[in-house]
Amino acid sequence: MTFEDLKLIPPILKALKDVDYIIPTDIQASAIPLALGREDVIGSAQTGTGKTAAFAIPILQHLANETEHGKGKRSIQALVVTPTRELAIQIAESFTEYGKYTHLRNTVIFGGVSQNAQTTALRNGVDILVATPGRLLDLMNQGYITLDHIKYFVLDEADRMLDMGFIHDIKKIIAKLPKQRQSLFFSATMPQSIVELSRQILKNPKKVAV
Ligand code: AMP
Repeated sequence: MTFEDLKLIPPILKALKDVDYIIPTDIQASAIPLALGREDVIGSAQTGTGKTAAFAIPILQHLANETEHGKGKRSIQALVVTPTRELAIQIAESFTEYGKYTHLRNTVIFGGVSQNAQTTALRNGVDILVATPGRLLDLMNQGYITLDHIKYFVLDEADRMLDMGFIHDIKKIIAKLPKQRQSLFFSATMPQSIVELSRQILKNPKKVAV
């Protein structure tokens, strides 16, 4: 199988060619068709398996098809929550790379640095936000971010998120998400605590494992 077989739109296929992605990885081959079909997905996959593209490509494709730009203000329609600054930066770079021939914009927010550059980027308008949990809640509480328009939600590295003590933050974030949305959930391991968390986020999820 190649990316050509996955029914991707030309701007995304062209961007994937630019980075020499020809063959989808296992997680991409199983998760991309499900996510394009608007299923919720629970994936057990480690970093290095290509899971970023497995969630970023379907989100970009949906938003590219659904979002008209030029008129009105952009609103955050996709949210990816990930435990660390390094992961957040890498994920945002991946959205930029795969989405470079679309009109979609992303930004990334994380703690430990001044919030000024982040709030400026948010004010300018983005379609896709990649965030660590603490800074996300902080900027939500200050009124810089609303989750009211989220259609696509990704919880990345859920097991690490719990290990790092983010469970309460995650619950506060999911309480603010619209009920009508597509959710994609990734974790390297699936202990009972993760299965329970996934049940609070996902509707009739399809499982993918690599
Ligand atoms: P990830 O697991 O998402 O962090 O991706 C691991 C690495 O694999 C990254 O450097 C990606 O750029 C690369 N990668 C992801 N998918 C593919 C693919 N289908 N073909 C070649 N490289 C890929």
